Amino acid sequence: MIKKCFLNLLFCNLLFIAGASFADETSLPLWYIVQVDINNPQELTWLEQQGYSVDSYNGKVAQVYIPAEALEKLQSMGFKPQILGTDPSSIYEKTPSGYHNYAELTQFLQDLTNTYPDLSRLISLGQSIQGREIWAIHITDNPDIEEDEPEFKYISTIHGDEPVGTELCLSLAQYLLQNYTSDPRIRNLVDEISIWIVPLMNPDGRELVTRRNANSYDLNRSFPEYPTDFNTFYYDGGNPSIETRQPEIQHIMRWCMEHNFVLSANFHGGSCVVNYPYDDDGGPSGVEAPTPDDTLIRWLSTQYAQYNSLMYNSTEFPGGITNGAAWYVITGGMQDWNYRFTGCIDVTIELYDIKFPGGTIIPVLWGQNRESMLSYMECVLRGVRGLIYDRNNSEPVWTKVLVQGNTQPVFNHPRVGNYHRLLLPDTYNLAFVAQGYIPYRANAIEVQSGIATRIEVPLSTGDLNNDEEINDLDIDLAVQSILGLPVEVNSDVDGNGLSATDIQAIINQTLSAPIGIFPE
Ligand SMILES: [Zn+2]
Repeated sequence: MIKKCFLNLLFCNLLFIAGASFADETSLPLWYIVQVDINNPQELTWLEQQGYSVDSYNGKVAQVYIPAEALEKLQSMGFKPQILGTDPSSIYEKTPSGYHNYAELTQFLQDLTNTYPDLSRLISLGQSIQGREIWAIHITDNPDIEEDEPEFKYISTIHGDEPVGTELCLSLAQYLLQNYTSDPRIRNLVDEISIWIVPLMNPDGRELVTRRNANSYDLNRSFPEYPTDFNTFYYDGGNPSIETRQPEIQHIMRWCMEHNFVLSANFHGGSCVVNYPYDDDGGPSGVEAPTPDDTLIRWLSTQYAQYNSLMYNSTEFPGGITNGAAWYVITGGMQDWNYRFTGCIDVTIELYDIKFPGGTIIPVLWGQNRESMLSYMECVLRGVRGLIYDRNNSEPVWTKVLVQGNTQPVFNHPRVGNYHRLLLPDTYNLAFVAQGYIPYRANAIEVQSGIATRIEVPLSTGDLNNDEEINDLDIDLAVQSILGLPVEVNSDVDGNGLSATDIQAIINQTLSAPIGIFPE
């Protein structure tokens, strides 16, 4: 009798302890992962519009995350949902061997940055809902100095139940640092690129093994949406209402806008493919939504896919790549926001068909993705690059960079002045447009296969004599230059060579009249 009481007490205590330590988990509402037959693409759109997350689709059936109470609604709509699992998951071991949990990941990153203090920094972008840090490891040759180098980023595990990418990001960070001195290729990447890696964007979701964050939001549906939140670019269009968003989203948005990322990718699981923008251009699921950089972005996606044999030889996705909307439309995704708002080309990489496979496969997956990760990163060194500055005081000028025939701008780094416009080999006309400055043209620029062509951009307000006024004296100087008289200023203010268009541009500045960006 006494013994039984004791056991009961012990049992109650155990329950209490377990209950207390998993209080956060049990507070998360139950969702189901269901499989449904899809008869037409409108059904995919409808599912997403209800706030359910379509996670994958193979042309016949889709896997969808739905709140438990939505099960009946789906049935009443004629779907026959088959429950595959629950979210948060009860079947996964939280951290099987081969994976790092949040505490181990933090330790790993601290140890790594302490071992390589000359090449790396560990930075918190902010905290998750439950107070975990969203870590970024910055790897570059002078980590405390903002240099004339393109910024590149990898982000993983926006979905907490897709942790393979976290492990590959840790492996990549370690690989870059360990091989810096011995491998000239790695040394070049670290010296020439400002590399940022965020291995775990959704640490609460990872700890709970849920797709969602601790407020039950799917973070890859929580960025500004097209066209309700924006139909233009952030920099042109005003504030994208950061404060109303989930904390994890706020931190990523602020960080992206403080920097000038040129190229990036974010890692998921549950499929094996590079998914590229747009995910949403207002059209239906199953129809291509190409960006103005479609050819370039398909080429970039292939630079990842081609070194991953499983991905490249996919029977579902030819060449291992797909346009986002052509697969299925999602709204509020991270990649479209990156591209539309900040000019950064971002792709969504699905690493493996199983979201949370046994840890013994992690080294195999690292082997399958290592060359892809390096080769994709190397692409950031292509295209056209240079510094954009005020020719009178050499200060950087924040500028929009345009390519003739392409509506997608990129921006330069506001503090350093460097711009990086990724382009495939060809000949291009570029224009550089900044508030208060005469648009500057760089015509017939040859882009080679390989490292970027450098074009420096000395912008002019039209104030040729640097007396802080734009007036007749400046127009006179331009006229004298064109007449061949000895004048000690560079009067080619529009980049088209010394000609009457320079005089016209300065006159227009004195009149505050607009100047055509790409004159016919
Ligand atoms: Zn995902």
